[in-house]
Amino acid sequence: MYDIQTVRADFPVLNRKVNNKPLVYLDNAATSQKPKQVIDSVSNYYCFHNSNVHRGVHTLSVEATDLYEEARQKVGSFINSKKPEQVIWVRNTTEAINLVAKTWGEANINNGDEIVVSEMEHHSNLVPWQQLAEKKGAKLKLVGLDSDYKLDLEQLHSEISNRTRLVAITHMSNVLGTITPIKEIATAAHNVGAKILVDAAQSVPHLNVDVQDLECDFLAFSGHKMLAPTGIGCLYVTEEILSLMDPFMHGGEMVLEVSFEKASWADLPMRFEAGTPNIAGAIAMGSAVDYLKSTGVEAIHAHETSLMKHALGLFDDLEEVTCFGTKDLESRGGVISFAVNGVHPHDLGQVLDSQGVAIRTGHHCAMPLVRSRLNVPATARASFYLYNTLYEVEALISAVDSALSYFGRSSRNN
Ligand code: PLP
Repeated sequence: MYDIQTVRADFPVLNRKVNNKPLVYLDNAATSQKPKQVIDSVSNYYCFHNSNVHRGVHTLSVEATDLYEEARQKVGSFINSKKPEQVIWVRNTTEAINLVAKTWGEANINNGDEIVVSEMEHHSNLVPWQQLAEKKGAKLKLVGLDSDYKLDLEQLHSEISNRTRLVAITHMSNVLGTITPIKEIATAAHNVGAKILVDAAQSVPHLNVDVQDLECDFLAFSGHKMLAPTGIGCLYVTEEILSLMDPFMHGGEMVLEVSFEKASWADLPMRFEAGTPNIAGAIAMGSAVDYLKSTGVEAIHAHETSLMKHALGLFDDLEEVTCFGTKDLESRGGVISFAVNGVHPHDLGQVLDSQGVAIRTGHHCAMPLVRSRLNVPATARASFYLYNTLYEVEALISAVDSALSYFGRSSRNN
């Protein structure tokens, strides 16, 4: 049984009030809150083990290195990476994708080649490919959505050709919550000899992600959306590709031998981790993985689905509110973007904040999707995680309902 009260008790911030109201935190797609186990692991590291990794023979350095590498193993096994060395520590999803664009992309994408992306990509999985395509004379191909806000698979299959070198695709949209069928897309990409990069910023925190089963070549995700601190994230790459990739940055930690004239590179994964890394962040990401595993990712997803079901049902009663996204909860995570006729999302967000309800408003770093496909300047977005309750869903709806009255919009459907 999913014990929501036990989960909530682990998150100190959930006890606070905002504007004299209990905090209802529904901005999880932007960043998640942190359990005390993760906060303690940061504190424990700095209180007892703080040292630089891989460089020292003294006890603290050995301990820090062991903890750092143990965290890599935990994260690797969480996504079922064959080897921990296939997981590279980076700052976040954005850095992971840029790393691929600047190394593998620069070396393998040439004039006339094609990169396929979807129209629901976060800017982090769109702009690096726009830049690379422009620089190399490659073509960026866009796959749209069907009428139910799912990826248009028919179009995807027709856009993938023998000129395709890469399909770069989100696993779960941060605006619509749409989950994409990665395995099917990977097969289509591999059939023409292309690679697939998966933006898993929204999926690794909420779904069971198995890189071997999905057959992805690259997978990028951020710690801060999955209970870990900001400033730490991961790039997974298949061994075959990683062994052929050039380093991203040059300097300390990533070299084997250096003379005044030249340098050779360290083994994997160090070759991709130049400079002193975010050691405490990596260790805390290992603790976040422990926490997610002990709660159970499937149980978390099922919990979020029940919150979504409740939210969609209640939103249905609100006249003047348009919710974007499929109602097929098999293909959707706990993200709900909505717009209110005649009320700017920022104004709505402020009224909700006065009720203690934290949502995000804007284009959610998916400007082309919001402006050109949803045809609105911005949306309001509520996003759920393991500690949210049905009661909080009701608090959201009731805050939206009172905002509608405040802005003079009639609210209830009959
Ligand atoms: N991709 C998706 C789908 C996201 O939701 C986000 C963040 O919101 C990112 C990429 C970028 O993540 P980060 O800002 O941690 O690099």
